[in-house]
Amino acid sequence: MPVRELSDWFPSILNYEMTGTLFISVGITYMAKSRKSLIKPRSIAFTRQAGYCFYCNQPMWSNDLLEFASKYKITPGQAKHFQCTGEHLEVHQDGGSSKQNNIVAACLFCNQKRHRRKMPPPPEQYKELIDRRMAKGCWHSVRLN
Ligand SMILES: [Zn+2]
Repeated sequence: MPVRELSDWFPSILNYEMTGTLFISVGITYMAKSRKSLIKPRSIAFTRQAGYCFYCNQPMWSNDLLEFASKYKITPGQAKHFQCTGEHLEVHQDGGSSKQNNIVAACLFCNQKRHRRKMPPPPEQYKELIDRRMAKGCWHSVRLN
């Protein structure tokens, strides 16, 4: 029983270290899991939408920013806005799941703008708003299609 003997000698230090390590490793596993869980649904949605944003219907990139920038003759800074992200239709914070039927692919710009609002509008309403903005030319700084 070497562990028990050791904890008899250094009970508080050992407990602290074990609890700390457990917390950290559970935390890392949880973060890795919750992050990873969006990758697959996002990439399925990206393919299903043929690489176009669910909201603004602009092309997106998922791996190669520079290639995308040179293809559309825009700066890397502009291209950053068109990065493909996994978007929760029912907002994650409100309990929206990361299952496939709740995930669409949206460009970083549309995604961030929706969630920067105090009350993120429902997807259909948000899409209409972006349609109107796109028609007026006041959504993205550049238009790719
Ligand atoms: Zn978009």
